[in-house]
Amino acid sequence: MSAAVTKTTASATETVEQFDAIVIGAGFGGMYMLHRLRGLGLKVRVYEKGDGVGGTWYWNRYPGARCDVESMEYSYSFSDDLQQDWNWPERYGTQPEILRYAEHVADRFDLRRDIQFETHIVSAHFDPAETLWSVTTDKGEVATAPFCVMAVGNLSTPRVPDFKGIEGFKGNWYHTGMWPHEGVDFTGRRVAVIGTGSSGIQMIPIIAGQAEHLHVFQRTANFCLPARNMPLDPEVERSHKAEYPERRRAAYDTPFGIAGYPPPVKSALEATPEERERLYEDKWQEGGSISFLYAYNDLLLNAEANDTAAEFVRAKIRSIVKDPVAAEVLSPNSHPMGTKRLCLDTNYYETYNRDNVTLVDIRNATIEEITETGLLADGRAYEFDDIVFATGFDAMTGAMREMDIQAGQGETLVEKWDAGPRTYLGIMVAGFPNMFMITGPQSPGVKSQMILSIEQHADFIADCVAHMREHGLSRVEPTSSAEVDWVDHVNQTADATLYPLANSWYMGANIPGKPRIFMPYVGGVDRFKRKCDEVVARGYEGFEMT
Ligand code: NAP
Repeated sequence: MSAAVTKTTASATETVEQFDAIVIGAGFGGMYMLHRLRGLGLKVRVYEKGDGVGGTWYWNRYPGARCDVESMEYSYSFSDDLQQDWNWPERYGTQPEILRYAEHVADRFDLRRDIQFETHIVSAHFDPAETLWSVTTDKGEVATAPFCVMAVGNLSTPRVPDFKGIEGFKGNWYHTGMWPHEGVDFTGRRVAVIGTGSSGIQMIPIIAGQAEHLHVFQRTANFCLPARNMPLDPEVERSHKAEYPERRRAAYDTPFGIAGYPPPVKSALEATPEERERLYEDKWQEGGSISFLYAYNDLLLNAEANDTAAEFVRAKIRSIVKDPVAAEVLSPNSHPMGTKRLCLDTNYYETYNRDNVTLVDIRNATIEEITETGLLADGRAYEFDDIVFATGFDAMTGAMREMDIQAGQGETLVEKWDAGPRTYLGIMVAGFPNMFMITGPQSPGVKSQMILSIEQHADFIADCVAHMREHGLSRVEPTSSAEVDWVDHVNQTADATLYPLANSWYMGANIPGKPRIFMPYVGGVDRFKRKCDEVVARGYEGFEMT
């Protein structure tokens, strides 16, 4: 049911649009949520900041942007016709291909008619008396609905560090997560890239091929594994498609939500050095990160085991990079391998053998300021035409913390999450009834094949809404004790691994002042899905429905 009512307030007459559900964000999460809720007969409005669908793949248009999950996996499973029809040309999808896919899905399922583009939601307030969420857009429009779904993404709040002097820079500057749609040609230009996470590592080889000179400013060296991208073998595609439904089901029984990799059964420390070397070499040649992390069962649990893999990669770096000083700087030694997101690269380390590329180690020397003509680091002035910030995102909680979210007289979401996010299953927050999150903090989202987790979350949410409607219930909220137990479980699970040892965005460590707490659930998609299924089987255990 939907309608528009006109309210007269002291200051103005405002039209309030009414829906059954409001979804914020039209990335892969918001699009599928819309499809599911519409399938229940709900009148849904999706609000999207960009002028098109695709979320991450709409914004991150930097050169070389590509998914690090294989294209046959990184796609929706909800429609077999869709997954059979769509052809991915390469092992890993490029940003333009994935965006084309998102646009195709939007058209194929006629999603656009319920999406309002170029609209940023600034606040979401819950009225307990009416059981209604009321959202306000940046244009001052107001809409209400009993249910509100945050499909705002985990890496959707780009962070340009607040370097002194940035506003006075006379050249051009860019952030990977806000890339100009028309693209950027760096031919013949003097360029700086700041940041060597997944985004920086993908773009650096391409910019190096265009620029007159490229300086890379590296604060922390990352572990990179070869992607080994290649055209998708038609036979691989055919056999994968023949098994698609079974493979998708099997993916839910794996930790990362990707089937086809036999789970490791042995500790790295039980293997001889020669055995390990052979296995790591096979994985290195195969390319990709899942296979490598699956070499042994304790790479993310035991520091000594981890170091065998880390040393293998460091030796590879030394063998590829000709300048021993640069090789040393590029060799990660401040965190266990895999505790920051592993990067997949194409010619990344080789790029440092080019004459037009200079690596600047700023581990112990911060960038002091951006000047009119470049930047100052470690007391030295550098001059550039262009600066590219590959400095990442206020991850996992950034987008929701930017919004004014409150429910009645209680705490705002920002207050509630002051010491780090607290959720039940990463799907709901106690004190915020009828507000759902897709792949929120404390879910396995970012530690999994995202689209699979998105589908699982959106299905859980849609099934919950259907259950409520069927039983005449209007309000759902997790109990405080279920939330406390889940937060404890998420923390204990992380603490049993090496993950908290890295200053990663998983820990909020890249944002000054952000609480240091490990945010994703690393118990695996398999355990998480089982837990969700049990919750439902036990009548939505941990949720209070009235
Ligand atoms: P990121 O992993 O957070 O990397 C940001 C980089 O900028 C780090 O090297 C960081 O150094 C550096 N940095 C941040 N602030 C700085 C400062 N003030 N001075 C100097 N250096 C600074 O961000 P990202 O590369 O955009 O990747 C974020 C995530 O997006 C990835 O982990 C991945 O999950 C996803 N992603 C995926 C793909 C893919 O599928 N292939 C591609 C791109 C991104 P420190 O490490 O020292 O903080």
